[in-house]
Formats: sequence, structure tokens, C-alpha cells
Amino acid sequence: MNIHEYQAKALLRGFGVPVPEGYPVLKAEDAEAVARQLKGPVWVVKSQIHAGGRGKGKFKEAAAGDKGGVRLARSPEEAAAFVRQMLGHTLVTVQTGPAGKQVNRLYIEDGSDIEREFYLSMLVDRETARTAFVVSTEGGMDIEEVAHKTPEKIRTFSVDPATGVTAEHGRAVAEALGLSGDLARQAQDLAAKLYRAFVEDDMAMLEINPLILTKDGQLRCLDAKVSFDDNALYRHPDLFRLRDETEEDEKEIEASKYDLAYIALDGTIGCMVNGA
Ligand code: GDP
Ligand code: MG
Repeated sequence: MNIHEYQAKALLRGFGVPVPEGYPVLKAEDAEAVARQLKGPVWVVKSQIHAGGRGKGKFKEAAAGDKGGVRLARSPEEAAAFVRQMLGHTLVTVQTGPAGKQVNRLYIEDGSDIEREFYLSMLVDRETARTAFVVSTEGGMDIEEVAHKTPEKIRTFSVDPATGVTAEHGRAVAEALGLSGDLARQAQDLAAKLYRAFVEDDMAMLEINPLILTKDGQLRCLDAKVSFDDNALYRHPDLFRLRDETEEDEKEIEASKYDLAYIALDGTIGCMVNGA
């Protein structure tokens, strides 16, 4: 099960992970009051869909404007105008496929001053049967492209479940990001908190792209993509409530009612197998 960025950030905040302050918006008329709760001087208005690449995405409707699915506003009024433009329109990104996804929720966040962008993700590595960290200095871009063109810029290491995350893993994250001193300590602290969130909430994937260093020397998660292990969701009724069925395939929703592991694909050839 996937969740929205604003939900993922709220969860991570609960584990003490540094994320910017922000609030979701479901109705255009709420946008300006929501933006006024944040201090500015920059407000980030972010389309909430279960797909990445929103910043470089394009809306199908001209009325939504051509600034992509993540916009920087200079005032609460401008933030509200961006909400009105994007809400209800269809955003197409490299991850949505050509049909795109309708934007039904937005997230308004206090803008950060970015010094550097990094990449950090966690996943369950089936080969080592461990939780793995994937870290790179090349943040804010398509990680598949980084992996293809400059694989040496990506570092991967896994955590033994018997020991859990240790100071050594924290140092490895800091070193991979080229951080020292206080920033290395922040990276170490971040790695420990993210690991705890990942394990306690039975996540299948956690991707922070970008993880940023702010101009005032703070590490902060600027984006967050989280998916949970469906087989463990029965342990987390609170997380299950975060499900947004409007983001899911109708056929998959119907199948899930009967406990069927069904994955809808495009094309015209049917495939009947014993696994998922
Ligand atoms: P994605 O395109 O779906 O991955 O959405 P992101 O949350 O990663 O945002 C896309 C890009 O917008 C980021 O890589 C940043 O460059 C930019 N961005 C997002 N939030 C801020 C912010 O607070 N300040 C600034 N200056 N840029 C931001
Ligand atoms: Mg991103």
C-alpha cells in the first residue's frame, strides 16, 4: 500500500525525523488560511498523487498552468492561486504513465532554502534478507538515471536485523554523503530514526529524494515516498486508514476485497499464475 507524501511526512515527524512544516488542502477555499499558518517567505504547493516526478510533470489541462506539479509561491495568495489551478486536474509524470493522475489533494509546505540535495532510500533487499540503505550525493534527480550513468555515486549497505542500525551505519551514511562534524552527527541521527520508522511500521520502501542540507546547516527530508508491506498491514489498523482508494486501480481494489493478490497490467494478453 502506498500513501501520500503529506501522510508519509506526518508519520516520519512522529519518529522525530526532520521534515518541513506543512498542511494538506482538500478544498480550494481552505488554501489561503492554511498557507497563512506557515511563516514563509516561500510556500511550496505540492500535488499529492501516488507517483513521483511531480516537479517536472505536466498537466493535461491548460487551465492548470505550465509550472509542473510542485510550485514555489511568494505569498499565501499566490499559494492559494496555485491550489485553485491544480486541484481536480490531471498531472502526467514519468511515473504516472500517459493517462496521468487526477490531483485531488494538495500539500502546502513552508519553503526551504536549499544548499545541497542528496538521495536516501531504504528497502528490503531480498538477496541479503535485510533492510538496506541506498545513499547518493546525487539528490533531486531520477535515481535510475544516476544508477545507469554514474553507478559509483550510489552506495548501498544493509543492516543486520540482530543488531539493528548502529553508529557504524550512521557513519557510513554520513561518509557516503560527504558529511563531517555536526552534519555527520545529524546524518547518523537521521539514519537511526528512519530505520526505526521503517521497521516499526513494516515499510517496504522509504525514499527521500531529495534529502536536503538547508542554508542554515540542517538536514531535512524534502520529499518522502513510503509504501508498506501489505502482508503486515493487519498489524497496523492506523496505517491502513491512510489508504486512498482513488489512487488505486479499480480492478485491484475489487480483488483485494477477496484477498486476491491481483496486479492490473496494460496490454491484451491475460496471465493466470499461482503467485501474485
Ligand atoms: P517530485 O518531483 O515528485 O520528486 O517532488 P519533490 O518533492 O522532490 O519536489 C521537486 C523539486 O522541487 C525538488 O527536487 C526541489 O528542487 C523543489 N522543491 C521542493 N520543495 C522545495 C523547497 O522547499 N524549496 C525549494 N527551493 N525548492 C523546493
Ligand atoms: Mg522527489
